[in-house]
Amino acid sequence: MTIATELPLSDAAASAAEAERGPITMLNPDFPFSYDHYLAHPAGLGTVPEDLYGTEVAIIGAGLSGLVTAYELMKLGLKPVIYEADQIGGRLRTASFPSAPGVVADLGGMRFPVSGKAFYHYVNLLGLDTNDFPNPMAPATSSTVIELAGKKHYATTAEELPEFFREVADAWKAAVNDGAAFTEMQEAIRARDTARIKEIWNELLPRMDEQTFYGFIAASKSFKEAGFAHREAFGQVGFGTGGWDTDFPNSILEILRVVYTDADDQHRSIVGGAQRLPEALWNHAPSDLKYWPQGTSLASLHSGSPRGAVSNLRRAANGDLLVRESWGREATYPAVVTTCQSWLLSTRIHTEEALFPAELWTAIERSHYMQSSKTFVMVDRPFWKDIDPETGREVLSMTLTDRLNRATYLLDDGPDKPAVILLSYTWNDDALKWLALTAEERVKLMLHSLEQIYPGVDIAGHIIGQPITVSWEADPNFMGAFKANLPGHYRYQQRLFTHFKQDQLPESQRGVFLAGDDVSFTAGWAEGAVTTGLNAVWGVVNHLGGSSVDGNPGPGELLDELGPISLD
Ligand SMILES: Cc1cc2nc3c(=O)[nH]c(=O)nc-3n(C[C@H](O)[C@H](O)[C@H](O)COP(=O)(O)OP(=O)(O)OC[C@H]3O[C@@H](n4cnc5c(N)ncnc54)[C@H](O)[C@@H]3O)c2cc1C
Repeated sequence: MTIATELPLSDAAASAAEAERGPITMLNPDFPFSYDHYLAHPAGLGTVPEDLYGTEVAIIGAGLSGLVTAYELMKLGLKPVIYEADQIGGRLRTASFPSAPGVVADLGGMRFPVSGKAFYHYVNLLGLDTNDFPNPMAPATSSTVIELAGKKHYATTAEELPEFFREVADAWKAAVNDGAAFTEMQEAIRARDTARIKEIWNELLPRMDEQTFYGFIAASKSFKEAGFAHREAFGQVGFGTGGWDTDFPNSILEILRVVYTDADDQHRSIVGGAQRLPEALWNHAPSDLKYWPQGTSLASLHSGSPRGAVSNLRRAANGDLLVRESWGREATYPAVVTTCQSWLLSTRIHTEEALFPAELWTAIERSHYMQSSKTFVMVDRPFWKDIDPETGREVLSMTLTDRLNRATYLLDDGPDKPAVILLSYTWNDDALKWLALTAEERVKLMLHSLEQIYPGVDIAGHIIGQPITVSWEADPNFMGAFKANLPGHYRYQQRLFTHFKQDQLPESQRGVFLAGDDVSFTAGWAEGAVTTGLNAVWGVVNHLGGSSVDGNPGPGELLDELGPISLD
């Protein structure tokens, strides 16, 4: 964990610690299954009987989860049929500035923790290049400005910040250690000691499920002693990626999963934009295909384009599942994987109620989604690296503020080239403040805020082209950015996540598998889109009569032993 105000370990020190004790991975405490080892196993993820080769399986959604699912099913000899309402990539969407198409903006996922080992399995397999992401105080960030209540602090390293910020960081460290066994959990994750991980987590879970993030810090001894100003600054400056106060109403369990697994630390971005990953999965021809001729890819299986938006999902008269597209085409399948935000199964896709148990519908309906907004402008060059002759400081820095913008990121690809400013990246209430405004109105307000922090710096004078903005909650194919469970939602999450193992369900409720970001325990992180896709692969293979391979048990085999516990 890098608390923004804490001294980050130097790269050399961090790698020495990793070599000695093993790296922190996104080994989720609810189900500490090592998906990276599962993926790396030379015998592969499973087999299906040869008479099933070529069997069609519908996948709803061509985001990362749908594409991972489809890619792995294709390798096993099945025929994925992908449906997509809009773009290949889903929330890994990269926009280009029209006047300079090589200059890009990641509208959804943009920074990927190195602890996300299943995600990087595909990044590495597909040969994508990555760069350090310029988070606050990160090694790739030459300077950071924290501006709170009109007071501005400039720092190139965490040591340069006032003592107050170190106290805030210390209070957080003490709170997670005293209240949530942080160090013990990280040690257990490093050691992949699943018994210890479960022991710690299963004891915490029932006590913490009904606690908010804010309630947790407000009740902690360290923040109580430190006082309100420290809690407030913690919300605004936060840890790793910046302010987290818009997460304050969410369950503390959501936050613990992030910090235990270093999801908020050591981020990298994908060169050319995050969408390169789903696009590469779509186009890649794996060498280890079962059945399909060499050179087969998802793109070639689909003759270049996925099918259209799904409007209906129901059981057909012959017992298969019927998928209807919004323009009327129908097809039936023995299995269907849905990877769109699960809310859409009731709001955008007319889904037969009898396909899921009533308790699962409750979980689908009650899931809580965060809103999120981003606004980007292209500038002629990374002028922020110019040094102000009076102060000796960079004229503009990565900025965290309590003003409307909240966080401003500076993204460049070298000097003397157009660069990008992510003027504002916000969540929840902060995102709603932008929702009704046009791109131009947003940019004007954001520049106004920045002018108060950087008087005399002519940011507008560097802007070229049109701004790019997004509010994910306004897009009918998403209706929100990503799930964030509220207190008391653990039971819903458990139902959603474990649904891929269907042996206890009646026949009439088998065959539809839920996957994707909001089914995972770590929504908002692409790692969960990958791992729930792998759960769905296991579910489909077993449903159709296939199995895992000897020596490489899948998530379904280990779910009872390692999976999320039930609360009363
Ligand atoms: C603002 C934002 C910031 C994020 N930042 C990060 C980050 O920095 N790091 C990180 O790791 N993760 C981040 N994430 C999360 C990451 O983007 C997601 O985990 C991941 O992209 C989700 O992939 P998915 O396949 O589960 O879902 P999606 O990408 O949502 O894919 C589902 C697909 O289903 C399609 N669909 C919807 N309805 C239908 C229909 N009726 N018929 C057919 N198709 C349909 C959608 O168009 C979409 O393409 C961020 C997400 C957002 C929104």
